[in-house]
Amino acid sequence: MLMFFVSVLIVLLVGDFASTFLYHVPQHLWGKLHLRTHHDRSRSYWDHAVLSKDPEILLDGLLGALPYMTIAALLVPISMWSAAGALFGLLLGQIHVWWRHTTELGYQSPAWLVRLARTFGMVLPEDHDGHHRNPDIEFGDIFRFYDVPARAFLNYARAFQRRRRSALRRLQRIRALRMLRTTQQA
Ligand SMILES: [Zn+2]
Ligand SMILES: [Zn+2]
Repeated sequence: MLMFFVSVLIVLLVGDFASTFLYHVPQHLWGKLHLRTHHDRSRSYWDHAVLSKDPEILLDGLLGALPYMTIAALLVPISMWSAAGALFGLLLGQIHVWWRHTTELGYQSPAWLVRLARTFGMVLPEDHDGHHRNPDIEFGDIFRFYDVPARAFLNYARAFQRRRRSALRRLQRIRALRMLRTTQQA
C-alpha cells in the first residue's frame, strides 16, 4: 500500500525532473519544436496544450511526457501497488497539464490552494501562465523548485555558447589577418 504513494511521488517528482532537464530546458536552448508549438503566441495555449490534434503539438507533448512514462514503466513490474501508483501518477500528471493551462479560460486559484501549493512547491496555473508570457522563467511542469536549477543551467549554457562564439570570431579575425599578410608578402 505504501508503495502506491511512493510510486505516485516518484513518477511526478523524478518524471518532472527528467522532463525538465532532458527535454524542456534543452528545447529552450537548442530546439525548435517546443518553442514553435508550446510557445506559439499566435494561438491560445489552452488550444494547443489541450485541444489541438496538430501532429507537431502532439509530438512536443509526447516527448515531454516520455520521461514520466519511462519512470512509470520501470515501476510497473515491481508490484501491484507500485503499478497502480505509477499509472495514477501519470493520470495526475495529465490532469495537471489540463489544469495548468486554464488561466487563459479565466481560472483563478483560491487563496487556500495558493498557500498549499507554495508549501509543497507545486506549480499553479498562474505560475505556468508566467512561462507562457516569458519563456525564460517558471520552469518545472509540476514542481516549482526545478525552476532555479533550470534557469541556472540555461544561463550557464548560454554564457558558454556566447564565449565559444566570440572565441571563434576572434580566431577568424586572426586567420583573415594572417591571410592578408601572406598575400601582401607574396
Ligand atoms: Zn504550457
Ligand atoms: Zn517552455
